[in-house]
Amino acid sequence: MHRLTDEYEALRKSVEEFSREVVAPVIGDYYERCAFPYDIVAQMGRMGLFGLPIPEEHGGMGGDYFALCLALEELARVDSSVAITLEAAVSLGAMPIHRYGTDAQKAEWLPRLTSGETLGAFGLTEPGGGSDVPGGMRTTATLDGGEWVINGSKAFITNSGTDITGFVAVAAITGHREPGEDGRARPEISTIIVPSGTPGFAVSKKYSKVGWSASDTRELSFTDCRVPEAGLLGERGRGYAQFLRTLDEGRVAIAALSVGLAQGCVDECLRYVRERRAFGQEIGRYQAIQFKIADMEVRTHTARLAYYHAAEKMLAGEPFKKEAAIAKLVSSNAAMDNARDATQIFGGYGFMNEFPVGRFYRDAKILEIGEGTSEVQRMLIARQLGLPA
Ligand SMILES: Cc1cc2nc3c(=O)[nH]c(=O)nc-3n(C[C@H](O)[C@H](O)[C@H](O)COP(=O)(O)OP(=O)(O)OC[C@H]3O[C@@H](n4cnc5c(N)ncnc54)[C@H](O)[C@@H]3O)c2cc1C
Repeated sequence: MHRLTDEYEALRKSVEEFSREVVAPVIGDYYERCAFPYDIVAQMGRMGLFGLPIPEEHGGMGGDYFALCLALEELARVDSSVAITLEAAVSLGAMPIHRYGTDAQKAEWLPRLTSGETLGAFGLTEPGGGSDVPGGMRTTATLDGGEWVINGSKAFITNSGTDITGFVAVAAITGHREPGEDGRARPEISTIIVPSGTPGFAVSKKYSKVGWSASDTRELSFTDCRVPEAGLLGERGRGYAQFLRTLDEGRVAIAALSVGLAQGCVDECLRYVRERRAFGQEIGRYQAIQFKIADMEVRTHTARLAYYHAAEKMLAGEPFKKEAAIAKLVSSNAAMDNARDATQIFGGYGFMNEFPVGRFYRDAKILEIGEGTSEVQRMLIARQLGLPA
């Protein structure tokens, strides 16, 4: 997989062109207005990007998850708000329906999700904690008269409040299991599909964020929110296993997105250092600058290999939890370090919103937090090495 097949390369190239020709000229304006780029999303939908890893029978492109990763990398080379909108819509919105949904749920949602006409969101994190799930989970769902009654709240949920959001898949406590060997009762967690506009489901106004400013992130609350029993996604009590799998895949996708941002920093710097002059020559002639760019390239290259490797194991059906965590950790570090160095190379212009590196700087930090913090990745790697929990 380290050498892309003709099919992967054609996809990569078409998203590269789209990013450069369609996204790049306009995204800065959306970003400054904190506006969701509906027209760009619609064009991505027409290109089939929202259905890349979904079978054709459900309106998808019949590709695989690595194809999605390549598209995310190319989008994030130019802009991360657009990339995270696609990542969350596919990885957290469509994939759980594709993987765990009933035939009726697939028929209802997948054609709209794969066309990009509708976005699905995934509500796991709560105001009381994102790393410690299920310890920090308080949202409950109880069965009453053939309906789930949901109470609780969710924090930081991507794509949950746009005009085209169709549903949020909400992880909730639906009961308690027998105590384990340690004598502690464990919650039974299930995932329930809550369509937008359901009474009792309230979406707050958008957060004011440090980065990803043209993406949609909201806090959600559920007050005696009733949905039909058939809204259960997959088996009752399998919610924990479902989101572990969803997050393992998602980490490979976030790694790809991080590599895109890291590569975008290299691209921008290579252009700039040939134009900008100081002390009588182009700054690209100074070894201090060249070494910075060389280090940026090294980080990007190694991070890309890490996510390619994780994706290869995933697609081969082999265990990939450790490789996904390594890829996410390495590539988010690369994005953060490259964004800092690129901003430094741009000097004062690096601090101006009109240059993409300013956006890269603001967008890089969340990559070390979302879909599992860097500390959580280290915990996962340690567990995979057999170290005690
Ligand atoms: C823009 C944005 C979009 C997001 N989108 C979504 C989404 O679509 N769906 C969703 O469900 N969530 C989403 N999230 C939530 C995200 O996944 C969480 O923020 C993340 O998992 C961290 O959880 P937390 O913020 O509660 O931090 P906490 O869990 O409170 O962690 C705080 C700090 O403590 C550290 N820490 C925690 N436990 C340990 C430990 N045992 N050892 C060492 N250090 C530890 C953490 O690493 C972190 O540094 C999003 C967040 C943001 C900011």
